[in-house]
Amino acid sequence: MIITRKLAPGRLVAATHNPGKVVELRELLSDIGFTAVSAGELGLPEPDETADTFTGNAELKALAAATASGEPSLADDSGLSCDGLAGAPGIYSARWAGPEKDFRAAMQKVEDGLKAETSEDGEVDRRASFVCVLSLAWPDGHVVSFEGIVRGQLVFPPHGDRGFGYDPIFVPEGETETFGEMDPAKKHAMSHRAIAFAKLKAFLAGQVG
Ligand code: IMP
Repeated sequence: MIITRKLAPGRLVAATHNPGKVVELRELLSDIGFTAVSAGELGLPEPDETADTFTGNAELKALAAATASGEPSLADDSGLSCDGLAGAPGIYSARWAGPEKDFRAAMQKVEDGLKAETSEDGEVDRRASFVCVLSLAWPDGHVVSFEGIVRGQLVFPPHGDRGFGYDPIFVPEGETETFGEMDPAKKHAMSHRAIAFAKLKAFLAGQVG
């Protein structure tokens, strides 16, 4: 049986305590009639990210907010997965930067890890993906998820001071500059987040039509 749930345009809880993410969600959803209100503004608790996949963490955050607020809620989880490091840092992408949010150190950790995995003939596997999962949950426990992935190559040393996180070491497929060097508008049009949002928006547009 296929269960469909109507979602009237209006308020959508953004299950994040990060003000930057609320602004981003607000902008992306406003043109299809949704207003994002944050978990922080509603005083909702912030669950621990205890799952072992991006989808698991996005879903647990969305479900926790939907259950606590009684309203449909949206959450995301994202990070960098390196082929040569068996997917690391993955869901630990933010945690690799430590409480100081030191992404220079986190990028160094990626470089050191790849060096340690260098094959006997000197080959380093530089392939990587940026992944973003957006999950939309209802108070009854129903949840749908949308994934965006951008494949690319890792470069060292880091290049560029735009963007954030691991942007300076990631060159997306078909491009010559890192996300850290790229015009932000260009990154935002092609990123893992943009792909996941496009899928979510198509879903919501279908829901509200
Ligand atoms: P979270 O989604 O807030 O758990 O954080 C994901 C972490 O993944 C961020 O702190 C960054 O380290 C990394 N990350 C996710 N998306 C990007 C991106 O677009 N550029 C660079 N780093 C990213």
